[in-house]
Amino acid sequence: MSSMPESQPVKANPSLLEALQAELAERASLGLLRQRRVLNGMQGVHVEVDGKRLLSFCSNDYLGLASHPDLIAAMRDTASIAGAGSGASHLVTGHQQAHEALEQALQALMRLPGILLFTTGYMANLGVITALCGRDDAIFADKLNHASLNDAALLSRAELKRFPHNDLSSLERLLAQSHVRRKLVVVDAVFSMDGDLAPVPELLALCERYDAYLMLDDAHGFGVLGSEGRGILEHFTLDSPRIIYMATLGKAAGAAGAFVAGPKILTDYLMQTARPYIYTTASPAPVAAAAMAGVRLIQQDHARRAHLHQLIAEFRATCQLQRWQLMASATAIQPIIIGSNDEALQVSKRLLERGILVPAIRPPTVPKGTARLRISLSAAHTHEDIAQLLEALHTLEAT
Ligand code: PMP
Repeated sequence: MSSMPESQPVKANPSLLEALQAELAERASLGLLRQRRVLNGMQGVHVEVDGKRLLSFCSNDYLGLASHPDLIAAMRDTASIAGAGSGASHLVTGHQQAHEALEQALQALMRLPGILLFTTGYMANLGVITALCGRDDAIFADKLNHASLNDAALLSRAELKRFPHNDLSSLERLLAQSHVRRKLVVVDAVFSMDGDLAPVPELLALCERYDAYLMLDDAHGFGVLGSEGRGILEHFTLDSPRIIYMATLGKAAGAAGAFVAGPKILTDYLMQTARPYIYTTASPAPVAAAAMAGVRLIQQDHARRAHLHQLIAEFRATCQLQRWQLMASATAIQPIIIGSNDEALQVSKRLLERGILVPAIRPPTVPKGTARLRISLSAAHTHEDIAQLLEALHTLEAT
């Protein structure tokens, strides 16, 4: 009779939850745990957190429209006539009058023949890139592009070639070496953590030379750049059938959602093929109506945008830093590089103690060694708000 080998205690695999807990603990020990806070009351440049009123430089509400009475009234009025939820995707029965009117308003503003709404910017980016590119294609992406563009490129299964930030000669080399069915160059028009612009005219020239298409994610430029707020296209006076334009409606437009603009054939095609368009519930009609009120203000309220640009100029002219570095940016995003994660967190904490809310952005959201304060300015700020922030920054840097 053969004897059974003595049983060894089996080392149990950590359960999924134990593994997750260990990873969370590691992130916490590295100071990389992301935190959220609950805001009481109205969104705006003054917010209430834990019963404390704070001056905020955190939001992407660049024109201060999220709390504008026109948007709030549009939302309330539309809810009473169109309902709170859209109930279905756009292609079933979710596309209501408010969505249609918003697409028309965007078309009038952007002066481009094709406009297609998406429920969020993240979904618009996934939708465009996965509809246009597949295994036979290549995507050329700036290394500082928004995460949604990178995720979209991976999901598409196209070859992904990333080039150093705004480096035209690297991009040209990659384009020249590539022999695929379709080439798509994809960039943030305004980089979300740096505030600088992509060199769009030069990118377009490269696309023309190498028969590529150019997708611009103008989430942070729409409503902010250009005298009418048409974003990067107006800033550089660009119009080309090679451009695929995407902007969000949850930032300067004050509501939520996104749109893609370009040739009519492009948006017709996306409507048939973009999966995040087809297989998701349309945004509620009141949200579309609020976005439409925001778009109207972007188009008509020039003084609001002018005030924002005045604040940007004032902030830059008055900010005098020795150790920290104000990045070169002419947009509402004004980052200050601190360097170490710990110091960036400390500065953010000490600003908070003074009643000022500024987020510390750390790797992996930004490259290692470039932890920063991401200050975003809004047309709802006053000159006194900017002075208060600068006084605090100058004092903290010196101590
Ligand atoms: N692109 C960029 C550059 C962004 O900053 C963001 C949002 N932070 C998005 C896309 C996603 O837009 P949304 O929030 O509407 O999903």
